[in-house]
Amino acid sequence: MRSKIFYAIFFTSLLMILCSAILLFVISQALSFEREYEHLEDFTHDLAAKLNVNPDIDLRLLDGSSYRITIVSQKGHVISDNRTDASMMQYHGDREEIVNALKYGRFKTYRYSNTLDSRHLYYAIVLSDGNVLRVSVSSSTIFSHLAAAVITILILAALLAIISYVGAKRLTYRIMGPLNSIDFQDPIIDVPYPEIRPLISRIYAQKKQINEQVDEIKKQHNEFFVITNSMKEGLIILNKNGKIISINKSALKFYATKEEFIGRSLLSLDRSEHMRSFFEHRDTVIPKSIEITLNNRDLKYYFNEIVVNGELLGYAILIINITAQNLAQKHRQEFTANVSHELKTPLQSIIGYAELLENKIAKPEDVSSFGEKIKRQGQNLLHLIEDLLFLSALDEGKANFQTEVFLLNDLAREVLETLDMQIKEKNITATVRGDDIYINGIYRLFYELLYNLCDNGIKYNKDGGELQVILDQDERHFVIRVSDTGIGIEKEFQERVFERFFRVEKNIATIKGTGLGLSIVKRITLYYKGKVKLKSFDGEGSVFSVIFPNKNLVAEKGIPSHETAEGTPGDS
Ligand code: ADP
Repeated sequence: MRSKIFYAIFFTSLLMILCSAILLFVISQALSFEREYEHLEDFTHDLAAKLNVNPDIDLRLLDGSSYRITIVSQKGHVISDNRTDASMMQYHGDREEIVNALKYGRFKTYRYSNTLDSRHLYYAIVLSDGNVLRVSVSSSTIFSHLAAAVITILILAALLAIISYVGAKRLTYRIMGPLNSIDFQDPIIDVPYPEIRPLISRIYAQKKQINEQVDEIKKQHNEFFVITNSMKEGLIILNKNGKIISINKSALKFYATKEEFIGRSLLSLDRSEHMRSFFEHRDTVIPKSIEITLNNRDLKYYFNEIVVNGELLGYAILIINITAQNLAQKHRQEFTANVSHELKTPLQSIIGYAELLENKIAKPEDVSSFGEKIKRQGQNLLHLIEDLLFLSALDEGKANFQTEVFLLNDLAREVLETLDMQIKEKNITATVRGDDIYINGIYRLFYELLYNLCDNGIKYNKDGGELQVILDQDERHFVIRVSDTGIGIEKEFQERVFERFFRVEKNIATIKGTGLGLSIVKRITLYYKGKVKLKSFDGEGSVFSVIFPNKNLVAEKGIPSHETAEGTPGDS
């Protein structure tokens, strides 16, 4: 705007200078033409007066003057001329100035001479002897006078152009200065030109409106940002050219990247075959959903077009992590297969022995041992079903368990007493030691936990081995540690022993079990937000440490044991 104003002022003044110069030139030319006529007239009259007194004045003496002087007879013959030999000159009786001078006594005119390409002024006057005195001057002579004036005019014009340049600059600055200093926070106070007050008011109102709209958009953007970034699902928004205009934290996490992808093509983030296919065919058909595995996660992608008022604006890609869902499904399938297998084996054996008895194929002396086998397999089955029911009760939080205050050390001793027969069978030295820990919790859960750990500590121990239950407590946690000097667990199985139905292959044939004991231990630990750690060396023994937080679980000493309260297991 500043340069526009400047050029407008500058060129207007330049144009005015140019017009004035031309006008000045034309006027001055007309004036000088007029003056030249006057000079011509004065000169001619003076000369005529002199010639009237003395007709013999030699005109050649006046050769140096800028005028051409000719005397023409009444008949039109040149009598004398100050520049040319009169006898050599043409007949002049037909010349306009001569004809008219003879008619009116004097006459002035001008003519163009094509040969000389110049204009001539003529003044003719009749002398007292009847001859005509004609004086002429050429316009080239006049223009030679004007040339000086033109140069002056040009210099003046150049000077004025410089002045108008500087003036235009200063004027522009003076016009723009106050406009630039308008405070748009409150423009009404210092509007420099009252004429633009309505315009400034409108600009101010629009500025306010735009600011409000920008604030609203920013607010909405922030809300969108906060919401999408707190989503567990990944969300990618593309424009219709396939460029990323928004990508949330979860999506970046799935792609294991922290790079900035806004404004970049979707393919710079994901060049997988599925994505390329979506990218290439998005104008015609988009897949509803696809499932892929990315960075060890099973992800399900949902594609949607973003259409507003019938116009396609872009695409939204929602990414859902279905790893846990898939894993749960896999576990369910495995679990069902395992349960069926575990139930089928003892049942087949029961049916087999029962058939032998039914068909009286069994020898009488074997009947009681078959009966005993049927009973044992039945007990196994019952044990398995009890474990399964217990686990599903914990999983679903449906069972009601009693919360009570009890001394953990007593509970550990009770467990060892229950297992006394097995301990004796294997000559195991079993001890409970450590801090007295009063628990305000579910007796049954701690019983099951310790029972399973101690049962394993005996089952997988060596003859004459040791089993220790050590109870430890600090300010924030308490630990139940069950260590044995048994066969140990190989490194590769140490994580898997907590899986439901997992049993180390080499023990299956020789040692009785369901493969559910340690998964029950793990489930109970999770119920109280604890942790299980296993340290084991193949052939040397194992130490299972279960760490629980004291908070909400450890009772203060002195609270009477067996004070009970209702409790319902929750999912943890
Ligand atoms: P099981 O009913 O077979 O004992 P668990 O879930 O209690 O089922 O244990 C899973 C597997 O872990 C067992 O089959 C066994 O191979 C191994 N295991 C558990 N405790 C011990 C231990 N103290 N020493 C050696 N191996 C063990």
